[in-house]
Formats: sequence, C-alpha cells, structure tokens
Amino acid sequence: MSCIEGKVILITGASSGFGMVTAKQCVEHGAKVVLGARREDRLSDLCNELGNENAIFKATDVTNKQQVNDLANFGIDTFGKIDSLVNNAGIMPLSFIEQGRTDEWDSMIDVNIKGVLYAIDAVYNHMIERGNGQIINISSVAGKRLIPGSAVYSGTKFAVGAISEGLRIESAGKLQVTCIFPGAFETELGTTIKDTSMLEYLASEAKYVNLAQPAERIAEAILYALKQKPGVAANEIVLRPTAQDF
Ligand code: NDP
Repeated sequence: MSCIEGKVILITGASSGFGMVTAKQCVEHGAKVVLGARREDRLSDLCNELGNENAIFKATDVTNKQQVNDLANFGIDTFGKIDSLVNNAGIMPLSFIEQGRTDEWDSMIDVNIKGVLYAIDAVYNHMIERGNGQIINISSVAGKRLIPGSAVYSGTKFAVGAISEGLRIESAGKLQVTCIFPGAFETELGTTIKDTSMLEYLASEAKYVNLAQPAERIAEAILYALKQKPGVAANEIVLRPTAQDF
C-alpha cells in the first residue's frame, strides 16, 4: 500500500504549476485532495478531472486569513481530517530595488510569507490534536542564494526556510516538516514578473534561458516527502536542473 493512499492533503496554489501537478499525482496514489487558489474555474476543471469524490476546492486568497481557515475547515468537514499541507501558493514579481515596485514587494510578503503562515495556523492545532501531520513548505533556491532582482523574493523565500525550521523545532516528535527549495521549473511563475528592465535582464543572460525542467520533477519530490513514514521527515530537499549554476 502506498504511504499516500487514504491521506487527505491540502494544497494551496493548486490552479497551476507545482500545485496542480502535485494534486494529480496525489490522487493517482489514492489520496484525497483539498485545493485552494484564486482561479476558481481552474480548480473546478481540475476537480472534475480528478473526480469530485477525490478532489474538492474552495476559491481561496491565501492573503486572507479567514479564507485560508475556511479552506482547511472545508477539508476537515468533507473528509474528516487533514493529514498533510502542501504550502505552495506563491508569486515571483522580480525587480531591481531601484525600480521601487513597492506594491509588488507588499504582495510578495503577503502571499509568500503571510500566506504560508496562515495555512500553517489553519491546520496546526488540528494536526497536533490528532498526534500527527505533515507540513511541506515550498521555498526556492532563491531562499538560499540571490541573483540581481531577487532581493525581496529571496527575502520571502529565506523566510519560508526559517519558518520551516522553527516549525520543525517547535513540533518535534509530532509533525513531519519539510522545506523544498526548487530551482527553475516549467510553471506559470515567470508571468508574475512585470518589470520590463528585469525581463530584459533575464532574457539577456544566457544562464537564465532554456533552463527549466518539467514541474513533475518537483511534484515527485513533494510526494517523496509525503511518503515518509511517521517518525521520520525529509527536512530539506534542494532540486535544481543540472544546468542551473545559481
Ligand atoms: P505558478 O504560477 O504556476 O503557481 C502559483 C500558484 O500560486 C497558482 O496556483 C496561483 O493560483 C497561486 N497563488 C498565487 N497567489 C495566490 C493567492 N494570493 N492566493 C492563493 N493562491 C495564490 O507557479 P509555481 O507552481 O512555480 O509556484 C509554486 C511555488 O513554487 C511558489 O511558492 C513559487 O515561489 C515556488 N517556486 C517555483 C519555482 C519554479 O521554477 N517554478 C522555483 C522555486 C520556487 P491563483 O493565481 O489561481 O490564485
């Protein structure tokens, strides 16, 4: 039997990219999934594809604490529990500090840090009361080192790494905590970059071009973490394309 079979897995940011592919792989392995993101039409199509007995969704903006709590409660009411949280929703509007795109900085802090915290808070007591649970946070290799234009994005992803480690320490013996640090993979994340000078810089540097590998590779890493038996956790996973030198 798969260690994932029968688990109830809450995934934020499930309307595209890693979250969507992870939802598909989880259901293929016999799990139930509870999906959140803002694009309701995408989530509805995905749940129809996966079977509405296996996959449920709620339109959720992770910057809204109440909506994140509602998503978790919806999962618990429907399936009776949440075993695992894949804390994945994120945005990456890279820009140079001199451009002063402070609204985008605010959004990154709200989605990538506060959203991650709200989702942890929404499931933490439920998991502690049940005596077990898994929390898998998605950081980035930008949460380990910087490139020009990644100051704020990296700041949020370093924060995800720190939050994961703090969570691991405080929930020792109870929760399985994982932080995944992906390199460049094929998703819609790049479309969140709006700063023209940043886009021109990325296009002008050969090392950033044609680098990304399929999102399925990260979903497989998430499943590796989800498959760990109680008592053990894969605490950190760094997964890069071999061609990526940063
Ligand atoms: P996508 O853009 O394909 O997916 C991002 C997901 O986050 C979407 O489902 C989007 O849904 C959701 N999201 C964004 N803002 C919000 C919000 N306010 N509330 C709820 N959901 C939101 O990119 P990825 O799959 O690549 O991104 C997933 C995670 O992986 C992110 O945390 C990203 O930082 C991280 N990552 C990605 C890398 C890559 O190379 N792709 C590398 C390193 C890290 P919607 O718009 O419908 O709300």
